[in-house]
Formats: sequence, structure tokens, C-alpha cells
Amino acid sequence: MGARPNLCFEWRGFRNPHPSGWRLSKERLEEEYQKGNVVIRPDGNLERRKYLDDYEGIPVDDFWGDIPRLTDGNERSGYPTQKPLALYERIILASSNPGDLVLDPFAGCATTPVAAERLGRQWVGMDIWDGAIDEVRRRMADSRQLLTDANPQIVYATIPPERTDGNDDGPEVPDLALRPQRQPEHWERLSHAEMRDILASAQANGDSVVCAGCGIQLPVRYMELDHREPRKDGGQNVITNRILLCGPCNGAKSANLTLSGLVRHNRRLGFEVDRGLAELAAIRARDAAQRCRDTIR
Ligand SMILES: [Zn+2]
Repeated sequence: MGARPNLCFEWRGFRNPHPSGWRLSKERLEEEYQKGNVVIRPDGNLERRKYLDDYEGIPVDDFWGDIPRLTDGNERSGYPTQKPLALYERIILASSNPGDLVLDPFAGCATTPVAAERLGRQWVGMDIWDGAIDEVRRRMADSRQLLTDANPQIVYATIPPERTDGNDDGPEVPDLALRPQRQPEHWERLSHAEMRDILASAQANGDSVVCAGCGIQLPVRYMELDHREPRKDGGQNVITNRILLCGPCNGAKSANLTLSGLVRHNRRLGFEVDRGLAELAAIRARDAAQRCRDTIR
């Protein structure tokens, strides 16, 4: 790569670190310096600092010990061989793309259809147990994926299709009618970093960012990106369902509380720092997210 004139400049006494120039524009570099992500070390060298919080995590390997087992009263539906939804979501994410067809010939208590639906896949579930269809409908309704009761999107058949290869006398197997998948819009595809930036400026107060759970004001790197409506209640990963919280608030909320549940929890335990600021931060974050939704096409 040759020199990029717009990235060749002098900044705080430093010249281009690479022949092709800097990686960041002068404004971005200064911004990163102000945030503490670029540091001038005592020995006079530059250091790019990265914080754990800026990462989405490390890739999983072939031992999955991080998915919690089912506990009573959580996802458990009473079906003896039920597995955690998070496990099936990981398998589907790792092995298919949005819009693909997922087939589970032992669909049992419907975890595969629910996981597939949440991830925007199409699905076919089969089971010899005649209660399976009710379980599919119940769990879809519980996770707010589809409406219950004769939803036209769930096609239910009890007569097994017959094969037609080499058996021209049998009935034709109908082609699978694939439901067209809705493509996510641009604003629904914002990265974690982009959502953080947008919410950080919406929740800013001077140089700090206000936690929407307790109202504490901290530098942006102490803020964590969380869901307003928890994922287990069908809360999506889109910016309109995101909020920046301090670490303790994010920990207390985990996957169980809504944002208003978290606020009540903090109030009850005396962890509230500034209710007015927290509410204002939550409102501003929502406004900024809605502006994104309305303007990014
Ligand atoms: Zn907080």
C-alpha cells in the first residue's frame, strides 16, 4: 500500500508510524488519545491500548462449558430431554446463515424451532409425539416469536409425505414452500462498536457517560452494552433495545431483568446514585436509537 496523503501528518510531535501513514485520521487519533486508547508512554513511544470491554469475546473451541444448564422455572418446560436454547442457538449460528432451512427430525419440546425462528432461519420440526405441535406453538408464543393459535406461518401435517423417487404411483411430495425472509435493515446491522458510540454520546454528561440503571457517571470505557428487554423475553440485538450500563448494573441485570426491573432493584437495595440522571440517560438513549432507526436506510 502506498502513501495515503490524508493519513500522513504530524501529531503531537510524532511523524507517520508507517510509510503509508497513520491508521486513523488526525481527528480520530486525537479522540482516541482523549479516551485513553492511545497513550504516550514515559519512554516517549506511542502505545495503542485495547480494553477487554471493547471486544465481543474470543471464539469458542470444541469444549463448550460456558452454557448454563437448565434450571427449574427458567426455560424448563418439563420435557425430559430438553436442552438449553443457548446451546441450539450456537449450533445453528455456527452451521447456517439467516434464511437457511433448519431441520430437526426429533423436534420434541421445540427448542430447535424456537432457536431457528429467533435467528431468522426457516425450520421444519418432526416428532412422533402428538403434543409436539402444541409445544411448538406454546414456546413460540412464550418467546414472542410468533402468535399462538392457528398461526398461518406454522404449517402442521400429520400424514407423512411419501417418496416419489422410483415410485411414480405414489402421491407427489409438495415442494417445501420457503417463506421469504425479511432482510435486516441497515440500522439493524449496526456493530457493537457503532451502537456503543451512538449510545455513549446520547448518554454523555460532560466527559462522562451516565449509567441508565443507577445514574453513576463514569468514563466511557467502564460502560457495557446491554439489552433493555432481556434476550430471553425476545429482546433483539438492535440499537432500539440497547442501553449502556455500568458494570455492577449490567451484572445485576444479567439476562433476567428489564431496564425498569433493574431500576427498581437498585432503588430497593440503595444502589441508586442519581435517579433523575439515569432516567434522562435512558430517554436520550432511546431517542438516539429511534433517530438511527428513522434516518439510517
Ligand atoms: Zn449503574
